[in-house]
Amino acid sequence: MANRVLVVGWDGADWEILDPLLGAGDLPNLAALAERGARGVARSVLPSHSWAAWPSFLTGVDPAGHGVFDILEHRPGQTRRMPVSSRSILAPTWPRRLSDAGRTVLLANVPLTYPPIPVRGVVISGGVIPPKAVYSHPPEAGPDLGWPINGGSWTTFRNRPLDLVADVEKVTTARAEAVRRLMDSHPWDVACAVFVSPDRIQHCLLEYVHPGHPDHARASATPVAERVRDVYRLLDRELGTLVARTDESDTVVVMSDHGHQPTTRALNMNRVLEHLGYLHQGHGSALVGLLAWGRVRSIARVAYDRLGLHGKVAVPTAPIDWARTRAYTSVVSTGEGVSLALRGREPEGTIAPEDYERARSELAAALEGFTDPGTGERPIRRAVPREQVLQGAYLDRAPDLLLEAAPRYSLTHARAMVERADWLSGDHRPEGVYVATGPGAGPANGAEILLTDFAALISGAVGVEPDAAWSAAAAEEEPAAVFSDQEQREVEERLRGLGYLE
Ligand SMILES: [Zn+2]
Repeated sequence: MANRVLVVGWDGADWEILDPLLGAGDLPNLAALAERGARGVARSVLPSHSWAAWPSFLTGVDPAGHGVFDILEHRPGQTRRMPVSSRSILAPTWPRRLSDAGRTVLLANVPLTYPPIPVRGVVISGGVIPPKAVYSHPPEAGPDLGWPINGGSWTTFRNRPLDLVADVEKVTTARAEAVRRLMDSHPWDVACAVFVSPDRIQHCLLEYVHPGHPDHARASATPVAERVRDVYRLLDRELGTLVARTDESDTVVVMSDHGHQPTTRALNMNRVLEHLGYLHQGHGSALVGLLAWGRVRSIARVAYDRLGLHGKVAVPTAPIDWARTRAYTSVVSTGEGVSLALRGREPEGTIAPEDYERARSELAAALEGFTDPGTGERPIRRAVPREQVLQGAYLDRAPDLLLEAAPRYSLTHARAMVERADWLSGDHRPEGVYVATGPGAGPANGAEILLTDFAALISGAVGVEPDAAWSAAAAEEEPAAVFSDQEQREVEERLRGLGYLE
């Protein structure tokens, strides 16, 4: 047999969660792979949310190299922020590279692969997909497999943990069955399937499975905990059925795009900036604050539809008084990025270009020094200048500062400046996982690798080396608009269900 690669992604998997399960014998298939090969930390990128992290997995470059920093993006000539799509990834991907080199690729459910990337093989798009869209390549592949799109909207299962568990189990089971049929019915050189269930349950049920969560001692002894652990047991059984389709000449990789840490407190980054004197809300913010939330906002959307205003007027977000604002949250979905209002760059920028460095250092110090009045703790572990953690052609589009949350803090999900986390018990941390075994496995056991290392590992394992000329040509393809107004609305609703939009 030729050397093939199977990659199974467990979105958000973290050793702090997996190790106790491994110790209890709940993950025998993962244990067997780790026993045969290497395991360690796969360090994510900043920002670490799925829409920035998975493109880094696909391209081997960090967000400044592929250009995706947030879930919504600005497009030249448009005032509305549009949801990102696979066309927003501005660097060449390994599935395209391997495809052009004559390898057959099966790609299932990798986030931000809608619209499906055309490759030699089959692609089932992952991430947020408009309900009636063509989401696979070839188009009939997904429907033929009965593939369930979307699912796992953790914020819509508020305070119903067992219903969320049942939902992610149903989706996981159906997707694993589809991936098995895909692997059995197509020849493949690389098969890559991502399961997002760990991330979905870890955002709101982490206390049941993470020993570091302050509520773990109580929560882990409840019947709900047994059901949450069932999700990992199911993932492991499904992993076993996919590994059973490989042999010892194949490389098998299990990995995550980031880890998860316990969360008990949540921030609203624009409110923090307001408190620090960097941002001022504009007039009418109380009304808009109301409109921006829940049902009231949904009603506003219906009114927009009736009036035919969609696509012409942006749904209101808290207005900013730009004339008095020096910094704002520039990764709005997760709060992981803050930027200065720079004259000549931001439309009403107040910071002179010659003051940029000084202003940015002061802002970083203010953010790192910010103290939660409720606990006396510092919620922001690091506020790092972008060039210290990112490099690439799109560095100038990156937030000026990248933020990492301190333990037990989330940088998003709060209405007030800081509040107790509600239906939120976990959020991302950079330390993801990998297990790799087989001839192309690469890292030594225990070595820490980067999320951006997988592209070269996968390509190398099937004998395809980097080709600068191919990469240069592939990078020149122009991105195009993807979503209709209707689809954009549907996608935004989904992003709300996943907790990324208010
Ligand atoms: Zn997540």
